[in-house]
Amino acid sequence: MKKFPLHVRIIIALLLGLVFGIMSINFGWPANITIHYIKPFGTIFVNALKMIAVPLVLASLIVGMANLGDISKFSRIGGKTIGIYLFTTVIAISIGLVAVNIIQPGKKLPQSTREDLMAAYSSSAENSQSVAQRVIDSGPLQPIVDMVPENIVKAATDNGSMLQVVFFAIIVGMALLQIPKEKGEPVVKFFDGLNDVIIKIVYYIMLLAPYGVFALIASLIVEIAGTDPSRAFQLLYALMWYVITILIGLGVMIYIVYPLLFRIFTKISYFQFFKSIRPAQLLAFSTSSSSATLPVTMERIEKKLGVSEKISSFVLPLGATINMDGTSLYQGVAAVFIAQALGLDLSLGSQLMIVLTATLASIGSAGVPGAGMVMLVIVLESIGIPVAGIALIVAPDRILDMCRTVVNVTGDATVAVIVASTEGELPDGLIRNLPDEIS
Ligand code: ASP
Repeated sequence: MKKFPLHVRIIIALLLGLVFGIMSINFGWPANITIHYIKPFGTIFVNALKMIAVPLVLASLIVGMANLGDISKFSRIGGKTIGIYLFTTVIAISIGLVAVNIIQPGKKLPQSTREDLMAAYSSSAENSQSVAQRVIDSGPLQPIVDMVPENIVKAATDNGSMLQVVFFAIIVGMALLQIPKEKGEPVVKFFDGLNDVIIKIVYYIMLLAPYGVFALIASLIVEIAGTDPSRAFQLLYALMWYVITILIGLGVMIYIVYPLLFRIFTKISYFQFFKSIRPAQLLAFSTSSSSATLPVTMERIEKKLGVSEKISSFVLPLGATINMDGTSLYQGVAAVFIAQALGLDLSLGSQLMIVLTATLASIGSAGVPGAGMVMLVIVLESIGIPVAGIALIVAPDRILDMCRTVVNVTGDATVAVIVASTEGELPDGLIRNLPDEIS
């Protein structure tokens, strides 16, 4: 298996899991063997994802905030950049939510299958209450009260307190920016190192993904299908619609939203821009990593489009960590899909909560493969959807990761050009085509 790239291995694992599950039902293999000897590997994989989520949020948000350090140097550009980043992120999630509510991929499953799925996954949902219910019980300000932890250690251990961890990380990052540099530096360095360690661990977890996917799919099918093998196909069918929903959303971002922004704010033709950044997009697709793609994105934006280094070296690295339109769109769709598949109805309040948490989660996602799925844990926990439901969407995740990373990188590049244009660079709207090394 080692000679195949990871995404191919995951697809193979998915197919093997399917074949195993279907054979096991057809030949009447004892379900207990699968549940006791195969499913645990899937559980380990999902637990590992959960394990790394809290440290990932803490380290990556604190480091991200601390890197804003020089924002005061050119606060206008900084403010503008962050403003546009947030704006495009919220637009992306909203598009995802509209698409998933119209297409309703999770409801392609028959009612009885959804009830059984809920029964299988609900053990982790015992103590979570829907946002809507909490608002009814304790008043409209409750979600804000919930964001402030009374005990940060407890917040980090409690299911459903992810938002409190995010809140704490932001406060720490903010304070770090305001204390004397020589005192803040060791702390920032510590979290910077920790961040690298965690990114390495995420990489290890992704190496486990093929085994995790095999185990999750095989046991999912055995548990859900019971005596009715056609349920395996129902699941696949729903999953296909889930993938289509995300691809439509990503397409809307790339072919409608960004071109519109280009139209409004720049004189450059979107088509030309798109052609210029193609190598960066291809690299994003093949590595699933905005961070790994960053050098090429910068080179393209500076050399081909003529954006100054001053702007590109601030806007793009920042974007590679905090601006992930594709990831946030995916997280919105995935959360609602899982809720639909488990037969949970999400109120408007819960969907608004998704906008908030997916914005934060995408900011907190590192630009490395699989980070978006780890951070999905936050979104699920904050609206009380059983995190184990991630098992449903693990299988096609790598492919979606490749696609959403293309949108992440294109979004960063779009904003870099917009900021440059509104700062008076690129006044004639012509592509520069300076000589370069990468083509
Ligand atoms: N792989 C994505 C990126 O690097 C993050 C994610 O997993 O969504 O941009």
